[in-house]
Amino acid sequence: MPERAPESDVNPGRTPRVLVVDDDRVTREYVAGLLRGAGMEVRTLDSGAPAVDLARNGGVDLVLLDVVMPGVSGVDVCRMIKSVTSDTFLPVILVTARADTSSRVEGLRIGADDYVSKPFDERELLARVEGMLRIKRMHDEVSRARTRLQELAVRDDLTGLFNFRYLHTRLHEEFKRAERYREPLACAMVDVDGFKRFNDDYGHDVGDQVIRLVAERLQEALREIDVVARYGGDEFLLILPSTHFSGALTVADRTWRSVSERPFDVNGVPLRVTCSIGVALYPSRDVTSKDELLKAADAALYQAKDEGRNRICVFQHQGYIYTPS
Ligand code: GH3
Ligand code: MG
Repeated sequence: MPERAPESDVNPGRTPRVLVVDDDRVTREYVAGLLRGAGMEVRTLDSGAPAVDLARNGGVDLVLLDVVMPGVSGVDVCRMIKSVTSDTFLPVILVTARADTSSRVEGLRIGADDYVSKPFDERELLARVEGMLRIKRMHDEVSRARTRLQELAVRDDLTGLFNFRYLHTRLHEEFKRAERYREPLACAMVDVDGFKRFNDDYGHDVGDQVIRLVAERLQEALREIDVVARYGGDEFLLILPSTHFSGALTVADRTWRSVSERPFDVNGVPLRVTCSIGVALYPSRDVTSKDELLKAADAALYQAKDEGRNRICVFQHQGYIYTPS
C-alpha cells in the first residue's frame, strides 16, 4: 500500500467520490488504496457496463477508467458515460499504456477529460485526479448558481410564488397544450377585498405580511398540477390545467374558503381577510386565446367586486355569480 498522501484539497465539505474501473485486480486495488489514502471515497468495478449505470444514477464525482478491458473497451465506456451524463459534468480520466497514443487521442476526442499512463507515477496520478475534481467542483458551483438564478428570475420576491413574467409564459404553454389536445383549461383571478385598509390602518409591513399569508393559503388550497402566481399588488392568478367548469368551481370555492375561513395572525393581531374571485374557462364562446382567457377572468373578478365583493364570479355570457354558503 502506498504511504498516506497529503489530504486532498478538493471538494471541501464533502469527500470526493471516485469510481475506479479496471479489470486487473492488483492495479484496481492499488489505485483505490492510493486515492483512499488521499481522503477520497472510492468504489471499484472490474468492468465498464455497471460503471455506466452508476454514472447515470449519480453519486460519482470522477471516473478513472482503464482503456484495455475485455468486452467493452474503456474508450467505449467513456463514450457511454459522457452520453448519459451530458447535462452535468462527470470527469473521466483514461488509464492507458504509455505507448498507446491512438487510444489516448481517440479517448480525448470522444470526450475524456484527461489521461494517465501506466505504469503510474503516484504523484502525477493524484495531481491529475485532484485537478480534475477541482474543475468538477467549480463546474458544480456554477451550475448551482445558474439554477438558482433561473429560479429567482421566475419568482416574486415578496411571496416566492411565480411572478407575472412566468405566469404569461406558462399560461401561453398551457393554452397551446389545451388547444392541441382538446383539453379544458381554467384560470381564476383572486384579489383581496379592501386590501388598502391593511396598509392604511397597520402600515405597509403588515400589508406585505397579509399578501404573504394569502399566498400561503392559496398554495395550500391547490393541487400539485395547478399553478399559482402573483399577478401584482394584492392580485393572484391560478392556472388550472385539465379542469372543467365544475372542477374550476370546486377550486375557486376551496380557495375562497382557505382565505376567509380563519383570520390571519399578523404579529399577534387577528385580521379578517376576504377575497373576490373571477373564474374563466376554455373552451368557451368568447375565449380563443390566452389573453382572452385572462381578460375573461379579469371581467369576472370585476363583476364579483361590483356585486359587493367576497364572492366568486364565473365568466359567462349571462354571468354566474354566487357567495359560497
Ligand atoms: P378592492 O376590494 O377593490 O380590491 O380594494 P383594495 O383596497 O384591495 O384595492 P386594490 O386591490 O386596488 O388595492 C391594491 C393596493 O395594494 C394598492 C397598493 O397600494 C397596494 N399594494 C400593491 N402592492 C403592494 C405590496 O407589495 N405591498 C403592500 N403592502 N401593498 C401593496
Ligand atoms: Mg384588492
